[in-house]
Amino acid sequence: MARVAGKVALISGGARGMGAAHAELLVAEGAKVVIGDILDAEGEATAARLGDSVRFVHLDVTKPDDWDTAVSAAVDGFGGLDILVNNAGIANFAPIEDYTLEQWNLIIAINLTGTFNGIKAAIPALKKSGHGSIINISSTAGIKGVAALPGYTAAKFAVRGLTKEIAIDLGRYNIRANSIHPGNIRTPMTEGLDVNQSLVPLGRMGDASELSAMVLFLASDESSFSTGAEFIADGGETAGIVPPAV
Ligand code: NAP
Repeated sequence: MARVAGKVALISGGARGMGAAHAELLVAEGAKVVIGDILDAEGEATAARLGDSVRFVHLDVTKPDDWDTAVSAAVDGFGGLDILVNNAGIANFAPIEDYTLEQWNLIIAINLTGTFNGIKAAIPALKKSGHGSIINISSTAGIKGVAALPGYTAAKFAVRGLTKEIAIDLGRYNIRANSIHPGNIRTPMTEGLDVNQSLVPLGRMGDASELSAMVLFLASDESSFSTGAEFIADGGETAGIVPPAV
């Protein structure tokens, strides 16, 4: 069953990690996909691996002009735009006392303003399609505080809030917007990190494919009445901790 047949998606940060996994599943389910990333070689390789239904464009999400080019690639190359996945993001670590203004400015520019830029660039094309699904990738750090991630936590909370605001403004155009909140997922971002999941109910990290399934649902018409909502896939991390004795 092709659950997103005939739809066109734009995914930021799609060269690798979860963005590449989302592209792969959307294509398998009938979509055409533009992936944008600052990693040109990896992005080109991912597009080549996924075949003719995928195009790569250089996209630095902090640059509105790059976003315009990416939206044009979808419209001119594939005939329109139906789905925007604001996935690009970075993490930078330090407790608040040591966290620098440079770290703060960088992460806000990419994780928050980058999402804002993507939304602004996509709106005209989504309106023209007569419908749309904007999927903003937040985090469990957009639901609860996470140690040594002040900028990341602030940006991911803000992405969650922005999602609710745009759901209100864009509902009249039949454009939906939802946020996704992954727990700890195995990707290049978490490579080498000591991620202890023993206090998380399911007791393990997630796989990118487990988030792609959620992206597919939100991208498809199956989620037609969902907007302004949080979708969590975190192995139970935000439900509460497992007491050591259990
Ligand atoms: P990833 O493997 O690092 O992939 C993110 C991609 O975005 C990378 O290719 C990255 O390039 C790119 N990127 C960075 N800055 C960019 C910019 N200015 N413009 C365009 N692309 C840029 O990370 P991931 O784990 O798949 O994460 C994807 C999303 O999920 C992020 O928003 C992340 O915050 C969120 N998330 C991840 C986890 C997790 O456990 N992995 C948990 C919760 C939420 P560089 O490598 O050069 O930076």
